[in-house]
Amino acid sequence: MSVETLTLLSKLPYNAIDFKSIEVSNYMPALREAITKAKTKLAHWKNEDYANIKTFLQDFTAITDELTLVSSIFYNMHSANVTEALQAISQEFSSLLTQFQNDFTLDLEVFEKVKKMRSLFSHSPMTIEEHKILEKMYDDFVRNGANLNDEDKNSLRKIDEELASLSLTYSDNVLKSTKEFCLQLSADDLLGLPESLVHMAKETAQKKKLEGYVITLDSYLYVPFMKHSQKRNLREKIYRASVSKATTGETNNLPLVKKMVDLRHRRAQLLGFKTHAEYVLAKRMAKNSSTVTDFLHQFKTKSKKKSLEEFQEVKSLAQAEGLSVLEKWDVAYYSERIKEKKYQFDDEMLRPYFSLEKVLNGVFDIARKLYGLTFKKNSTMPTYDDAVEVYEVYDQEKFISLLYLDLFPRDTKKSGAWMTSFMEQGFFFGEKRRPHIGIVCNFPKPTDKEPSLLTWGDVVTYFHEFGHALHGMLSQCEYTYLSGTNVYWDFVELPSQLLENWARSPECLEAFAKHYKTQEVIPVDLVKKVLNADQFQSGLMTMRQISFGSLDMAFHAQVHESTDPSQIEALAMKDFQFLEPLPEESMCASFSHIFSGGYSAGYYSYKWAEVLDADAFSLFQEKGIFNKEVSTAFRQLILEKGGTEDPAILYEKFRSRSPSIDPLLTRLGIN
Ligand SMILES: [Zn+2]
Repeated sequence: MSVETLTLLSKLPYNAIDFKSIEVSNYMPALREAITKAKTKLAHWKNEDYANIKTFLQDFTAITDELTLVSSIFYNMHSANVTEALQAISQEFSSLLTQFQNDFTLDLEVFEKVKKMRSLFSHSPMTIEEHKILEKMYDDFVRNGANLNDEDKNSLRKIDEELASLSLTYSDNVLKSTKEFCLQLSADDLLGLPESLVHMAKETAQKKKLEGYVITLDSYLYVPFMKHSQKRNLREKIYRASVSKATTGETNNLPLVKKMVDLRHRRAQLLGFKTHAEYVLAKRMAKNSSTVTDFLHQFKTKSKKKSLEEFQEVKSLAQAEGLSVLEKWDVAYYSERIKEKKYQFDDEMLRPYFSLEKVLNGVFDIARKLYGLTFKKNSTMPTYDDAVEVYEVYDQEKFISLLYLDLFPRDTKKSGAWMTSFMEQGFFFGEKRRPHIGIVCNFPKPTDKEPSLLTWGDVVTYFHEFGHALHGMLSQCEYTYLSGTNVYWDFVELPSQLLENWARSPECLEAFAKHYKTQEVIPVDLVKKVLNADQFQSGLMTMRQISFGSLDMAFHAQVHESTDPSQIEALAMKDFQFLEPLPEESMCASFSHIFSGGYSAGYYSYKWAEVLDADAFSLFQEKGIFNKEVSTAFRQLILEKGGTEDPAILYEKFRSRSPSIDPLLTRLGIN
């Protein structure tokens, strides 16, 4: 596979990727060729005198055309179809690509060129998108320290190296201390556990070459164990181990937390920001830390009453069942008993109404009613696996996207579900192109006896990913740079979570949720139970989420002088505790999201996105869930724009005001 055969010479309609012709042995030569081309184009771009912004940006994005294509195919296959042969070259592929990217971001000639053009074009007319791209190009360099003097640049590089290594050690420590713990059970200890958990516990024991059954701190074992085990002493044991992960001995993360927080603040200050949170949030819809802390505070205040009532309900049940003092390891257990009593249904009752075919067609139908889209199956288009289906997507008569659906598990696929793009919308290989979007899931395969039948969770997941896919497919930008889902982090979940609301609408469920054998529509009382279950302990859930967001901000939005992490945590979590914390308890020692993932000063985004989707949907509820005026506004102002405009401005244009938290409070039953 040379890059040429893949793209420019592609004989397939819509420049589709010829997956069938790609061999694993082609990737490395194609990557090297792409890098050589990028270097040549980069040298030309640096020397060219550009008279207008359009060609300047076109040439700039074109530098990486081949590279973008090769790496997009590679990384998509790495997630959805990772054979051993592909795995074997992934290290080499990644390091070569990273090396090129690092060289590029440290290339001062590129920065000088961007700076020069930015001031040259500052008085010429340009579109909002062009302005936004130019600013982003400039900011990306500045945020990496391009404007600093040599000494500060040096310090910044040292901090970055140290942070990278600390964050690796942090996640290693969490992993090690998770793996260290292992609770071996005899047959007597299984009291209350569901059959599926017993089965997994047995398998885990066998893997560890141990007798009987084993529960570890991995959440797929830990969470159901805490909900169902009737052995209170065992619940206590595993709970204590779980909340004190990575707090002692060689895997103690607490000193690392302190170092990382200090370094992050120092880094931010070198770059001219007061705190790490201000640095991060400057590139978010929320913009600054006071917006985020106010936001979290509002939710804390609002959900206090409901969470206390819910907690009291748990306490009362425990007392009624003879427990004199409710401890932390009892809460999940008694909560689950309440849930069982209130919403008696299980996945098996629902699955017959959710055959995959009916769900897919249901979603296609919703996309047609909202945006006038039609989906035409193309059975001749080459794919990377026979189970993948390809659709041509049309807006009226106009082709707008290819859609690849890869929905069943296989050994070469990662778990979970995600939306992806093989090709982004925008200027690519010298022309304006429509996108090639994919949805990858792990739904149950059809069997001899029945079609693929989804759980309620699967149905919501599919709607979610389809919402992301619409963001990709409907994009109408000039350049790929900020098209589709290339938006701020706290804005990207709006289209996906918004579409979930249609899955929860009784009107839509009636249209597609029909029994695969009898065609009977899903019973109304079953729908009610499912929807009510979504609200179960919403007060406690909200408090928990907000407590994590507040802890994140406590570390990153304030500079603390020589305070130890445990003290900061104790102060931040004080208002969220329903029971006294245990002496060994520490959240920050294993808060991987913010200390080894990319979520620092970003944990609030989960709730933020919910606010946006509930608020946006409330307009649909007001005017009708298929109201053309509202759906067209959402399409034109949000889905088509990608990241080419400030999301706060786009959202205000759509909703005629800034987002309100009230619709979410109503949905959660908190108002
Ligand atoms: Zn998502």
